[in-house]
Amino acid sequence: MYKESFIIPHTVDEALAAAGNLQGDYRYFAGGTDIQIYYKQGLIAENSIIDLNEIAELKSIGFENGQLKIGSLATLDELARSKPVQDHFSLIKNAALSIATPVIRKTATVGGNLLVKNRCNFYNQSEDWRIAVGSCLRDQGDICRVTGGKNKCFSRNVSDLAPALIALNATVALQNREQTFTVPLIDLYQPDGINNHNHLEKDAIITAISIPRKKHKWYFRKLRLRRSLDYSSLTVAAVMDTENELHVCINAMSMAPVLIRGLFTDFTLEQLQKTAAKECKTVDNDLLPLKYRREMLKVYLDEMWQSLTK
Ligand SMILES: Cc1cc2nc3c(=O)[nH]c(=O)nc-3n(C[C@H](O)[C@H](O)[C@H](O)COP(=O)(O)OP(=O)(O)OC[C@H]3O[C@@H](n4cnc5c(N)ncnc54)[C@H](O)[C@@H]3O)c2cc1C
Ligand code: SF4
Repeated sequence: MYKESFIIPHTVDEALAAAGNLQGDYRYFAGGTDIQIYYKQGLIAENSIIDLNEIAELKSIGFENGQLKIGSLATLDELARSKPVQDHFSLIKNAALSIATPVIRKTATVGGNLLVKNRCNFYNQSEDWRIAVGSCLRDQGDICRVTGGKNKCFSRNVSDLAPALIALNATVALQNREQTFTVPLIDLYQPDGINNHNHLEKDAIITAISIPRKKHKWYFRKLRLRRSLDYSSLTVAAVMDTENELHVCINAMSMAPVLIRGLFTDFTLEQLQKTAAKECKTVDNDLLPLKYRREMLKVYLDEMWQSLTK
């Protein structure tokens, strides 16, 4: 694990000051459910931890100026149980409750889930396994073990909260050493298996996520090997508002969540299925076979279409 220091700031400003002093050789620690595995497998090596858990200002969930505001340090369990989510955002509740296990959800946070590291069968393995098979582009090798290519990594974004929140038109608030700013959540993601995120420069911390409160119909479905535990092999979240604006967000099939949006009346199901297949850069790096996942994407979009047009 980390070797040098474990810092516990009480405000975002203190956390940013500590990060500035460490000049990149640190990891923010929220629930730790993702990064502890990476430390154990020798996939990250920063020497210090900055634990965000004592920053009370990052934990609240409630309505503010007509938007649901979720603090980034709220746990997935607190999110699913919170009254505003229970009463108005069943999509978020379903997405949160589909993640990992009840014990993990009591520790894992919203911010940590949005920044969960991309996964690949050839990378998320023990050090011994990786040495035996041969390292890849994302680690110390010079080739992608899935495609044989030398330039591009196709590891998959597996956050289940991200597609649900993106379909709901969420924005994310960040604070770095120089400024606080807000961007659409979809813009946080980069379709690159190695550099997965934007806007995290200058030690940025996600402080909150905001979602407009609007009447909507929703759909959420997730495919995975074991429903009790496994990461997603395909997640589809969709929202249609009262003006027939449709947002479909697909995750776990590509390096970043894929958002398709427009007026419902401008699409046909077949067009949507074709666009989704084209936009998702899916390769064979998951527990479930590639052909099956591609087929299930069509099936879920069909189901989504029927359910939102009922
Ligand atoms: C067995 C298992 C099954 C799982 N199944 C699923 C699943 O089905 N679906 C799914 O979506 N996820 C799944 N996960 C992933 C899990 O949801 C994530 O591990 C968890 O949400 C990460 O949250 P955390 O608070 O523990 O993050 P951490 O591990 O603490 O951090 C994750 C990353 O985010 C950074 N970070 C955290 N908070 C902030 C912040 N506020 N600002 C800036 N950076 C921050 C950290 O530095 C780190 O890089 C699974 C995990 C396990 C172990
Ligand atoms: S997609 Fe290729 S480069 Fe990326 S983690 Fe997997 S094997 Fe490595």
